[in-house]
Amino acid sequence: MMGSAIASVLDRKDHDRSDILEMLQCSEEDAHQLYRKAAAVRNRSVGKQVFLRGLIEYSNICGKNCLYCGVRRDNQKIERYTLSREEVLEAAMTAYRLNFGSIAIQSGENSSKVFVDTIENLVTTIREMTGGKMGITLSLGEQSRETYQRWFDAGAHRYLLRIEASSEALYRRVHPDDDMHRYKKRLECLKIIQETGYQTGTGVMVGLPYQTMSDLADDIIFMRDFDIDMCGMGPFIEHSDTPLGARGTDNLFLRERFNLTLRMIAILRIIMKDINIVASTAMQTIDPAGREKAISCGANVVMPNLTPARFRAGYQIYEGKPGYREVNESNISGLNFDLIPGTTLGLGTWGDTPHFGRRLTGK
Ligand code: SAH
Ligand code: SF4
Repeated sequence: MMGSAIASVLDRKDHDRSDILEMLQCSEEDAHQLYRKAAAVRNRSVGKQVFLRGLIEYSNICGKNCLYCGVRRDNQKIERYTLSREEVLEAAMTAYRLNFGSIAIQSGENSSKVFVDTIENLVTTIREMTGGKMGITLSLGEQSRETYQRWFDAGAHRYLLRIEASSEALYRRVHPDDDMHRYKKRLECLKIIQETGYQTGTGVMVGLPYQTMSDLADDIIFMRDFDIDMCGMGPFIEHSDTPLGARGTDNLFLRERFNLTLRMIAILRIIMKDINIVASTAMQTIDPAGREKAISCGANVVMPNLTPARFRAGYQIYEGKPGYREVNESNISGLNFDLIPGTTLGLGTWGDTPHFGRRLTGK
C-alpha cells in the first residue's frame, strides 16, 4: 500500500502548496489513505475525544447582505426573531445540565448598542450561573475592537469568524461591493480577535461559485500562516432566496463539495495537527452521516443545536438545514458512534486544544 504517490506526500514532514494540491486532487482510493492518516494525527495530537459546543442561534436579524446566505438583509421571506434573555439562558442551562462543557452563541450581524450590551450581559450571566464552568464561543460577525474586548472581559474565550474565502478576489465575487462587505475589514477583525486573546477560529466555504482548487490550497495556507486555534469549514449549499442560489443546485455537485470538504478537513488536520476542527452541520445536510464522516477524517468538535425548535425555520442560512431537535437525554450529540469507532464524547470540559497554549507561550 505504502509506496504509492500519495503515501510519499503524506509522509513528508512539511507540506508545501503543491503537496496540498496533490492531496486535494488525489484519486478516491488515495483519499482513504489521506483520511486514515488525518484521523491518526488527530488521535495522537488532540486525542480521541469529540467535544460539544451547544449552538444557540441568537438572532436572524442581519445588517449584511452576503450573496450566499439565506439570512441576508434583503431576504424578505423570513420572519426575523431574536431570542429572549430567558430563552438563551434556558438553552445554556440545558447545555450545562447535559455536561456539554461549552456553548456557542451565533447570530446575524448586529452592532447596535442594545445588541452589544445584551450579549455582554448574557455572557456574564451564563458564566455566573455555571460557576465559571461553561466555555463560551461567540460567532457574532464583525465588531469594533472595543466590543470584542468587552465580550472577552465578560468571559467569552473563543471567537469564530470565517474568512469565507481567503482570496480577496473570490471574496469580492460572493459579497456585495460596498463598505459593509470588505475583505480587508474582515481580515482586520480576525486579527483584532486574536490580539484580544480569544482562541481564534476561522474557516471557509467549500464549493463556492468561481472557487478553484488553487483557492482551496491557499485557504489551507492562510489558516496555517494565521496560526488559528480552531476551524469551522463547510460545503456551500445554495439557498433559493439568495443571488447565488436562485438557480438551484445539482446533487452531484453537492456530493463533490462534500467530498472536497472531507479532504480539506483531513489536509488541515495533517498540517495543523493540534487545532480544533468542527464537523459542521452543513456536512450533515448533504449526508445524514456527514458529521461522522468528518470526524473519521480528523474533525473533533460538533455543535448540537440548542436553539428552541420554533425558531429553527428562521435560521436557514442554507437550504435543508436540519430543523429537528436532535439533542435529547439519551443521545446528546446526535452522533452515531458506531460509524466512528475509537472516539468518545469529551464531556464536562472546555475541550481546549494544546495549540492555543503553545501559541501563547511561543513554544
Ligand atoms: N453572521 C455571522 C455568523 C452567522 S453565519 C457571520 O457571518 O460571521 C455563519 C456561517 O454560515 C458563515 O460564516 C458562512 O460561512 C456560513 N454560511 C452562510 N451561508 C451559507 C451557505 N449558503 N452555505 C453554507 N454555509 C453558509
Ligand atoms: Fe449575515 Fe452572517 Fe449570513 Fe452574512 S453570513 S448574511 S453576516 S448571517
